[in-house]
Amino acid sequence: MYSSLVLEHFKNPRNSGELPGANAVALVENPVCGDTLELSLRVEDQSILEARFRAKGCVPTIACASQLTEMIQGAALMDALKISRESIIESLGGIPEGSLHAVQLSLDALHSALKSLPMLNVDLKEIHGRTWA
Ligand SMILES: [Zn+2]
Repeated sequence: MYSSLVLEHFKNPRNSGELPGANAVALVENPVCGDTLELSLRVEDQSILEARFRAKGCVPTIACASQLTEMIQGAALMDALKISRESIIESLGGIPEGSLHAVQLSLDALHSALKSLPMLNVDLKEIHGRTWA
């Protein structure tokens, strides 16, 4: 049912835990299955230097959060903002239709964390349209 990449991330989550010195943090919840995801970022000079997550949830929620932290760590803010649902799904070798909430949850956490940054001086809607949480 899940791709081998999804299962591998679930068994060996990347960048899980707390992040001392984080300056952008978000806690989001998916009411559909009760998943919660906390994403902590350390952002400097328009780049995400470090990312950590803590999640309670189903297999794909853990896998998406783990994959997302790998994609955003070291990324420029503008590039992190352009990460799409499709790019996460593709990088995990596919996500079952019934688990797409996990992809959205990880993006919601990212957007919510970045929105808290005073230095983020862009029109977020222009980048992500309706997917912007
Ligand atoms: Zn779930």
